[in-house]
Amino acid sequence: MQALEKAATYLNYIRGEWTASATGQTESSINPANRNEVVGRFQSSDARDVDLAVAAAKAAQQAWRRLPAPARGEFLYKAANAIERRLDEIALTMTREMGKTLPEAKGETARGVALLRYYAGEGMRKVGDVIPSTDGEALMYTTRVPLGVVGVITPWNFPVAIPIWKMAPALVYGNTVVLKPAQETSITAALVVECFAEAGFPAGVVNLVTGRGSLIGPALTDHPDVQAITFTGSNEVGKLIGRKALERGAKYQLEMGGKNPVIVLPDADLQLAVEATISGGLRSTGQKCTATSRVFVHKGIYEQFKALLVEKTMQLKLGNGLEPGVWMGPCSSERQLDTVLSYIDKGVAEGAELLCGGKRPAEDGLADGFYVEPTIFDKVDPASTIAQEEIFGPVLALIEVGSLQEALDKANDIHLGLSASIFTKDIGSMLSFINEMDAGLVRVNAETAGVELQAPFGGMKQSSSHSREQGQAAMEFFTAVKTVFIKA
Ligand code: NAP
Ligand code: MG
Repeated sequence: MQALEKAATYLNYIRGEWTASATGQTESSINPANRNEVVGRFQSSDARDVDLAVAAAKAAQQAWRRLPAPARGEFLYKAANAIERRLDEIALTMTREMGKTLPEAKGETARGVALLRYYAGEGMRKVGDVIPSTDGEALMYTTRVPLGVVGVITPWNFPVAIPIWKMAPALVYGNTVVLKPAQETSITAALVVECFAEAGFPAGVVNLVTGRGSLIGPALTDHPDVQAITFTGSNEVGKLIGRKALERGAKYQLEMGGKNPVIVLPDADLQLAVEATISGGLRSTGQKCTATSRVFVHKGIYEQFKALLVEKTMQLKLGNGLEPGVWMGPCSSERQLDTVLSYIDKGVAEGAELLCGGKRPAEDGLADGFYVEPTIFDKVDPASTIAQEEIFGPVLALIEVGSLQEALDKANDIHLGLSASIFTKDIGSMLSFINEMDAGLVRVNAETAGVELQAPFGGMKQSSSHSREQGQAAMEFFTAVKTVFIKA
């Protein structure tokens, strides 16, 4: 165990310098597997630090946008190499800081490397079209230009991948950035930014300011020199950011919650459907925005599915994500644990039947961590709280249905629409699901949680601001289209 006095202090990164906050204050980042372990201390910044970072990003903007895009891409390749070199250290820090298992943390860090290489390559790809003009002597075409300074606000659940899938396209398309990561994962963010610093980006192109979202978030989102905000996090904060950005005419992109359904039909591969429901719903302690949370199972297979699901869930090994063999770590924070436990209480109060889990584990050695048992509810009313609100924890709600249509109607009867999946061998059922399911990501015979970096990602309904991230879709947000007409 690392004692408080031994934990390192991490700084903000502004204008190419590691800088202490003007407040002179720091906060501790705690290991959720052991509340007594401090992973490190980060700057508890205020608006003064944000102002400096935005000024640095603004000052760096012109030279950065004038660099050819392939040259900007070269910096991303170097950042990718730096992260790859430090992959084990970054993954270990991520596990210690937010609790996901080490293999998952390594996988996510490797994803960060792949994202950087993908967007480095974007620097060599086309950004416009030639469009025939009605004037035979003119050339008309579109090109794409950067927006300017982009504010990047990120959550703790993918503390490497999300900052990178926002910063990498922002940078390669010629923007400069100020990153404000979630407090819970400020140290992991600092390591990622160290890798950007190692890559030698010109001073001010990449900036990091850590601290309380309610304080420095508005300082960033309301700043007149910030032309765009890209945000991933809760619906509550997202809507606030969207309203404020709209008011001052800034571009914004919000990726928010999900309440993702899986539909299991009688012809499904039962084993596969159960494994995918467990993996989609409980891996990473259910703390993925694409996590499965509502499970609509056809009555023809319901009892078998339920029995196998409970049997396999009871076998999952809970513990510190650093230990080999552990399948599920703790909730990322005490606040998150309290939220999950309060939803479990609500599920019971609203009449759902608890099949397994539902409480903090009693095992020795887990008492100091923010652990909760993987939890399955049966006989869940699709209109009840646990079937309507995002829990962001390892809780599955089982709902029996009589037909695919009933499953689709109930699955769509909600304000969110991020991802969804179906298990069936019937092509007609697959097509009905693909056509009718309100979700930005629909998957057939695969779990709801699963994103490929080269494909667009984002939700329908209130899960997003209706733009998409990742793949070439990122260009839509991080650039503006300029239509050019030239007559010689
Ligand atoms: P959150 O509370 O909304 O926080 C997200 C970020 O916003 C954090 O950096 C937070 O800082 C900051 N923030 C807080 N208040 C702010 C304000 N007034 N202005 C500007 N920024 C502010 O969300 P979270 O609890 O960290 O993350 C969980 C949520 O993220 C879930 O709802 C999940 O579904 C969603 N999520 C969505 C996706 C997706 O792609 N759709 C991916 C992952 C997660 P602090 O750290 O100081 O609070
Ligand atoms: Mg933490």
